[in-house]
Amino acid sequence: MEVLRADRKFKDFNYYNLKQDNYFLLPFKFHRLKNNKEVIVNEVGDFIIVDPGTVEKIVKRQVSKEDDEDLYANLLANFFISEERISPLIDVLATRYRTKKHFLNYFTGLHIFVITLRCEHTCFYCQVSRATENKDMFDMSIENIDRGIEYMLRSPNPHVTMEFQGGEALLAFDRIKYAVEKAEVETSKVGKGLTLVVCTNLAVVNEEILQYCKEHKILISTSLDGPKHVHDHNRHKPRASSYEFATNGINLAREILGHDQVSALMTTTKYSLDYPIEIVEEYFNRGFSGIFLRNISPYGFALRTEKTKYETAKFLEFYKVALNKVLEFNLNGTYFTEDLAKIFLQKMITPFGVGYVDLQSPAGLINGVIVYNYDGSVYCTDESRMLAEQADFTFKLGTLENSYEELYFGDKAMEISEVWANEALTGCSECAFQQYCGADPVHNHATQGNMYGYRPTSDFCEKNMSVIEYLLELMDENPEIKEIFEGWVAPRTH
Ligand code: SF4
Repeated sequence: MEVLRADRKFKDFNYYNLKQDNYFLLPFKFHRLKNNKEVIVNEVGDFIIVDPGTVEKIVKRQVSKEDDEDLYANLLANFFISEERISPLIDVLATRYRTKKHFLNYFTGLHIFVITLRCEHTCFYCQVSRATENKDMFDMSIENIDRGIEYMLRSPNPHVTMEFQGGEALLAFDRIKYAVEKAEVETSKVGKGLTLVVCTNLAVVNEEILQYCKEHKILISTSLDGPKHVHDHNRHKPRASSYEFATNGINLAREILGHDQVSALMTTTKYSLDYPIEIVEEYFNRGFSGIFLRNISPYGFALRTEKTKYETAKFLEFYKVALNKVLEFNLNGTYFTEDLAKIFLQKMITPFGVGYVDLQSPAGLINGVIVYNYDGSVYCTDESRMLAEQADFTFKLGTLENSYEELYFGDKAMEISEVWANEALTGCSECAFQQYCGADPVHNHATQGNMYGYRPTSDFCEKNMSVIEYLLELMDENPEIKEIFEGWVAPRTH
C-alpha cells in the first residue's frame, strides 16, 4: 500500500508570491491550544485566537473580505495579511519590531557583584554559600571591586544596576559601603544613572545598615519561600528560624526604607509543591503587590539527590493552582500579580519588550547581565557561576585581569552568541511563542549537555510553552480574566 507523506519541501517562489484574488501572507506562526482553538502570532507578538481550521483557511487564501468581514479586518490590521505584496505599513511593523527588541539598545544593564561567598545559612538548595569567617578568602577584594566598577562604567547603558549578592551579602557590609560610595562618585562623573540593590536573607540586618541603605537609596531584595514551615524547611539557619529573621527584617526594612523598597522572591522546592495556596496567601497577607512563582533551577546542587528533584509537570500543576489563587484575589477586587505571567503578558499584549534576562532573545547573558565573582572571575549569569562551583567553567568569560573587550566580545562570548537567539534555534524558530519566550544556553548546557539544546525534551521549553498556553486559554475563556491581565501590564500611576 502506498504511504502518503506530507510534502514539506519549499514550494517555488510563485507559490508564496501568489496573491490569489485577495491577499498576501505576512510572516506568522500558529499553535493549537488544548481547547482545540488555534492561536496565530505575528512577528511582533500580536496574537489572535481563532476557531479550528482557520489557519488553513488563511494560508489557502480562503478568508473572504465579504464573508469573513471581522476576521479579514483583524488579520489585515494586525499584520497577518496584506493587500499589497509589500505592505505599505511595513515601516510601522519594523518600528514595532525595534520596540520589542528595545532592551538590546543599551547593552549590559545589570552588574552583579558577588561581594562575599560567606553565609550564616545552610540552605540545601544553595550552590554557593560558605559558612566561614575567613574574610580574605571569600570576600571580594578592593582591587576587584574597583575593576568591576570600571567595567560597569564601560557599559554603553546610560543606567546601570549594581546588585550585591552572596553568600550573604550583608556579612561583607564594609565592602558594600566601599563599592556603593565609589560607584556613586564614578557614575555621577560620567552622568550614568545608578540603581543599587542588596540581595540578603535579612538575618544580619540592623537599623544602622538600613539607615545607610536609606541614605544611599539602596533597594532590598530578599527571599521568602512561603509560610514558616515552608520557608524554614527550605532555608536552613542553624539553631534558629530563618522565617523569623526574614519577616522581621522585611518589617524593619519597610519601616525605615519605605514599603516599596523591599521585594521578595520565592523558590519552589519539592516540599513547596504541596502548598501553592498557602505560599500565595503568605505574600498577599504580608502586603506584597504580587508574587513571582519560580521553579528551582533544575540542575546543580539543588537537585543533586532524588529527594529534592521534581518534574516540570509537577511545577506546572503547582503553578496553575497558585495562579488561580492569585486570580481569585483579583476577581474579588484586589490588585495582586503573578510575575512570571506578567512578563509573558507584557510581551503578549503590549507593544513593549521586557528586560527580564531569563526570557530574552538574544539571551540576557552578557547583553543584559554580567557577574563579577568575589574571586575576580567573570561569568555570564548567576547560574553560570553556580555551575563553576561544581567545576564546570563553560560560561566563565575570564577574570577581571582581562580587558573589557576580551570579556564582553572575546571568543567565549562569540561562541555563546551563536546559540543565544531563539529565532535561530531548531524548534524555537518555528514556534508560535518565540516572541514571548527566550533562549537560555546555560540552561541547555546544564540540563542537556550542550548550549544549543533540544526542545522536545527541554524543561525550559515545557514550562514556558505550558504557561503561555494556559494564559491564552484563560484569556480566551474568561473576558474578566483578560481584563485583569490587561490591568497587570497597563502603566500604573501609583
Ligand atoms: S523554548 Fe519552546 S516555547 Fe520557547 S520558543 Fe522555543 S520552542 Fe517555543
